[in-house]
Amino acid sequence: MQKFIMLLLVGLIGATAAEAKKQSKGGDPIVVSPADLDSEIMSYVEANVLATMYHELAHALIDGLSLPIFSREEDAADTFVVVITDQFFDAGQAEQLTWASADQYARDAAEAEKKGRELAVWDTHSLDLQRYYNLICLYYGGDVDLRDDFAEENGLPNDRAESCEEERELAEASWGAVLDDIKRTQAGPDWIILDENVDTLGNSYVLAAQSVIRAEVARLNKRFAPDFEITIAIENCNEENAFYSPGEGKITMCNELSRSYVLD
Ligand SMILES: [Zn+2]
Repeated sequence: MQKFIMLLLVGLIGATAAEAKKQSKGGDPIVVSPADLDSEIMSYVEANVLATMYHELAHALIDGLSLPIFSREEDAADTFVVVITDQFFDAGQAEQLTWASADQYARDAAEAEKKGRELAVWDTHSLDLQRYYNLICLYYGGDVDLRDDFAEENGLPNDRAESCEEERELAEASWGAVLDDIKRTQAGPDWIILDENVDTLGNSYVLAAQSVIRAEVARLNKRFAPDFEITIAIENCNEENAFYSPGEGKITMCNELSRSYVLD
């Protein structure tokens, strides 16, 4: 089954999935994994949980700051993930985060193809493989000299690679400016309140993912202080999901989603 998915992936994204998988072994985890967990799996889970949290945080910022968005908000949120993680993490970690998040989209695309599902061209999100290439391109565009191998290993075609530096500059001018505006300049109350449900669905990776979210929230509270409050709730939802509820100023991170990133 795994092999079949890998073959499909190779077909879809151009001979790179197998190499990319190898990269996860050499990637830099964001936090030290608990001793009883497989560090490669944990690294994949934490990268995806954080990428998802930052995607939802973008929705919260767009809402809370009434940011003008001139195209699809979902694309703007994906762009934010690359901009903030490249600021927050060192190059090895940011690369692992981008790769693992992109890889998840490639896997979703392969699974949809396998099940014969129609492409959701009507959806608010870009197609899974478009999200894959957007992430790879934006990360590569942050340093085209040093990240050349990354782009190549992950199958970014030259036709797209040519514009990635410019795309990234636009992303920095847009999201980078927003982050500059909300930088914390003095001590004050936290703007992100964490609401945790510690039921882990019997999965120790879920517990570890929660601690990754906790550490990131502490960092976000230290660095930024917009004049509104949001809640990040970690809870069981009976679905693999994460979402932002504008009326409540609340991000819900479902434990089921963390569990879904634990690949066999
Ligand atoms: Zn979204």
